[in-house]
Amino acid sequence: MASIEYRFSDNISGPFYVDSNCIACDTCVGIAPQCFRLTSDYDHAIVVGQPVSERDFNLCREALACCPVNAIGDDGSQ
Ligand code: SF4
Repeated sequence: MASIEYRFSDNISGPFYVDSNCIACDTCVGIAPQCFRLTSDYDHAIVVGQPVSERDFNLCREALACCPVNAIGDDGSQ
């Protein structure tokens, strides 16, 4: 389970975030490219856009469920 304590500071603010467990596998980007992106040095993924539609929320939840190292968190604020 992702931890807000280890949230990368370059995530855009909002409920979804990526933490330091990320291994840059690109899975989340493939599922929800409107919300996740790898950093320019391919070190890790970050949230670049928080979901606004129900479809995007569902894709972010799918990305969270599919992350192989549980590096995606949802703080439940939305
Ligand atoms: S699916 Fe998880 S490990 Fe893979 S890039 Fe996304 S946050 Fe990182």
